[in-house]
Amino acid sequence: MPKQRLLPDVIGHTPLLYLREVSELTGCDIYGKAEFMNPGGSVKDRTALGIIQAAEQAGELQPGGVIVEGTAGNTGIGLTLVANVLGYECVIVAPQNASQEKIQQLEMLGAELLLVPAAPYTDPHHYIHTAERVATGRAREEEHGAIWARQFDNPANQQVHFDTTGPEIWKQTEGKVDGFICSVGTGGTLAGVAGALRERNRDVKIGLADPMGSALYSYFNGGELKSEGESITEGIGVSFVPGNLAGVDVDFSCRVDDDDALPYIFDLLKHEGISVGGSSGINIAGAVALARELGPGHTIVTILSDSGSRYQSKLFNPEFLWKHKLPYPEWMAN
Ligand code: PMP
Repeated sequence: MPKQRLLPDVIGHTPLLYLREVSELTGCDIYGKAEFMNPGGSVKDRTALGIIQAAEQAGELQPGGVIVEGTAGNTGIGLTLVANVLGYECVIVAPQNASQEKIQQLEMLGAELLLVPAAPYTDPHHYIHTAERVATGRAREEEHGAIWARQFDNPANQQVHFDTTGPEIWKQTEGKVDGFICSVGTGGTLAGVAGALRERNRDVKIGLADPMGSALYSYFNGGELKSEGESITEGIGVSFVPGNLAGVDVDFSCRVDDDDALPYIFDLLKHEGISVGGSSGINIAGAVALARELGPGHTIVTILSDSGSRYQSKLFNPEFLWKHKLPYPEWMAN
């Protein structure tokens, strides 16, 4: 019997799920890559493994060493999971507005957790800048050294998607994929998958789905980093161009309101049994927009980044949604 182990066998290789309702709505075949089925529950398990393996190969991580990262949660969960298997410690700096479910998961895995008040990226107390300072300090103090994972700029992030997520999508669609679209946190997924698909077919259309409050839509439509509105989604939307996104061309971009994204999540749960978080709602709305742009008969792939259970207290809580003036279905209120 094969002796499958968490590492390296179980991260990635996720199913590509046919999304029936949005496919019927648009006349395209829309698929979601089920990244919520990774062992740490999100697409960021791939990033975590890629970053840690690259640091090991570069000789930057010593056994017993410390990995520091600023993350809204999912990267921290992936890093701590992989670190537990490979014998490292993790220090995770997260904003206080990250969902309580992600914080609990980080605590359960044994991460050393530093919660900081949510602040704009320009503020030196923003969780990413705090993580850099903590990493510099710990590198001096720790017996086995410390590294800053720096997922926004670390090329190992997009590389792992170039090496795994993109080729998996190509294979699972039997090369028939016409368009790929997703939102951006670090840009690792979009950059890596775009590179892998374009390498196999230059005509694949690459799209960006940007939540409100993010500056990337305006950046790709006029070159200016400007944002408007806000979003309750987590892990996506940035006010700067992450290193991992620099130089990536997109063929199509759209801005998605939470009001438009959330019904896709609720319908997917109720009608197709698939539970996903807010960023997947933005991604699905983006896939619908790209389907409308390309017209019926095309095959479009997006990312189902993490699970709805990670946001039970927010996305699936009518009180929370009501407070934020967001729509929720009748069945949720009962
Ligand atoms: N969705 C969720 C829930 C995430 O945590 C992230 C990672 N920040 C993303 C989407 C975006 O992925 P990437 O960092 O590869 O752009």
